[in-house]
Amino acid sequence: MASVSIVGGGVIGLSIAYECRKRGFEVTVIESGVCGGQASGAAAGMLAPYSEITEDPDDFFKLCQRSLNLYPDWVEHIMQSSNESFEFSNCGSLYAIFHEADLLSLEAKKRWQSEYGIQSYLLSGDEAREKEPLLSDDVYAALWCPAESHIYAPGYVKALIQACRNAGVSIIEHAGEAELVDGEPHLVSTDKGLIKGDFIVLATGAWSQNWEKGLNCSLPVFPIRGQICAYDGPSLSHIVFTSQGYFVGKENGTLIAGASEDIAGFNTSVTEHGINRLESWSKKVLPDLREERPFHKWAGLRPASQDGFPIIGKVIEKPSILIASGHYRNGILLSPVTAEIIANEIEEMPQEIPIESFRPERFQFV
Ligand SMILES: Cc1cc2nc3c(=O)[nH]c(=O)nc-3n(C[C@H](O)[C@H](O)[C@H](O)COP(=O)(O)OP(=O)(O)OC[C@H]3O[C@@H](n4cnc5c(N)ncnc54)[C@H](O)[C@@H]3O)c2cc1C
Repeated sequence: MASVSIVGGGVIGLSIAYECRKRGFEVTVIESGVCGGQASGAAAGMLAPYSEITEDPDDFFKLCQRSLNLYPDWVEHIMQSSNESFEFSNCGSLYAIFHEADLLSLEAKKRWQSEYGIQSYLLSGDEAREKEPLLSDDVYAALWCPAESHIYAPGYVKALIQACRNAGVSIIEHAGEAELVDGEPHLVSTDKGLIKGDFIVLATGAWSQNWEKGLNCSLPVFPIRGQICAYDGPSLSHIVFTSQGYFVGKENGTLIAGASEDIAGFNTSVTEHGINRLESWSKKVLPDLREERPFHKWAGLRPASQDGFPIIGKVIEKPSILIASGHYRNGILLSPVTAEIIANEIEEMPQEIPIESFRPERFQFV
């Protein structure tokens, strides 16, 4: 049986591990700390490509849409294999605007969405408040998109870990910073010894630029900190998007408000400024939060690539090594499709969607 060793135990590495194991590979995950301990455990868990993507659809849109479509079956498999359940809510979203001038962009968005068969509905402020009574009277209009959903990210990660273990994936945590061994494209060195793999997948999120030297190629991935907080209620029945933040109600009674986009290196602490900004915007969108303070604040590092697209595929000069990184704001959403693409690459199977725009070699060699 061929073997696949995956460096990085976030949602991307774990999803690839699960998919490769399902396809019959012997799989090892190598994680420097604990699986899900970085961006994946910090995420709001929205599966919301239609609200996130404002421009006309491109290959990235197709990637997101494919993943959203894969989600229901994927979740069912993960729940069955792990014997654990986690929140997966098909609640839909409302993209709220506050000024008449923003109506044009909302209308344009609705137009391209309907061209691509996505149902969305333009609502007046009053119609939006009928759907979501907590919305401020200042909301002028909203785009309602019933197809968007969210999951509880920490529960998803926990189930993925268990699903991988139950399926026979070997997970090595606290392995230190894994490194490629010079001149050995099938070996990774870790604090727990050398790990072999017929294929090595590098799924190391915001830390992916560290591989540039070993691979002798450019991997421009940068950490973008997201600060985020949670209130103890009130509850929302839709994801609420706005130009400056989003709100997601979870079934455990918390209301998540996110998220900043800061450049702070690899620092994952929250700042007063970052959380204050979220708090004051929360009060504007949901006036019921005026007297509330968040009970929990945290931050994670989104892996942002230079062109904003994820980096997925074989390293052309070293085809036993594959990259799966740069998922930026959508790594939770993109986890099933990334697993599918990487497993297809390894098996040399045709892809379901165009992936040329995501190949690592689009960046210049160093
Ligand atoms: C505040 C916030 C909110 C977000 N909300 C959403 C959302 O609503 N929807 C959505 O789709 N996405 C969201 N995201 C983005 C999403 O969380 C990320 O895109 C996704 O988690 C990236 O997954 P990953 O596995 O690539 O990275 P990570 O989860 O960061 O995992 C990478 C792992 O690699 C390990 N690692 C790194 N280098 C090495 C090494 N040399 N050796 C061994 N291990 C190594 C790290 O320890 C880490 O555990 C959000 C992110 C943040 C921060």
